[in-house]
Amino acid sequence: MNPLKVRAYSSQRRARLVGASGGFMPSDWQRQYARQGGLCRWCGKAAPLTIDHILPLARGGTHTPANIVLACAACNSAKGRRLVYSEWQPPNPLPLDN
Ligand SMILES: [Zn+2]
Repeated sequence: MNPLKVRAYSSQRRARLVGASGGFMPSDWQRQYARQGGLCRWCGKAAPLTIDHILPLARGGTHTPANIVLACAACNSAKGRRLVYSEWQPPNPLPLDN
């Protein structure tokens, strides 16, 4: 299995563990990766990307493409359970809808 699929499936497993609904498949990862040009959604850096829930799972967010962006580990952990823009200001967000 390629690393991209491993990441998508392990995130799926974590989401199920916390009882979140939805699905995020390797094809969703590829689509979002292309939208972001391979850059972190929040700082615009070309770093290894992780799945980041816009509305955190801990706050009732879903594990669906509409609620998922790709962010570097630094932004993902800095954001944590906070809400983007209202509780946490991303350093250099990409100009996208989600
Ligand atoms: Zn980042």
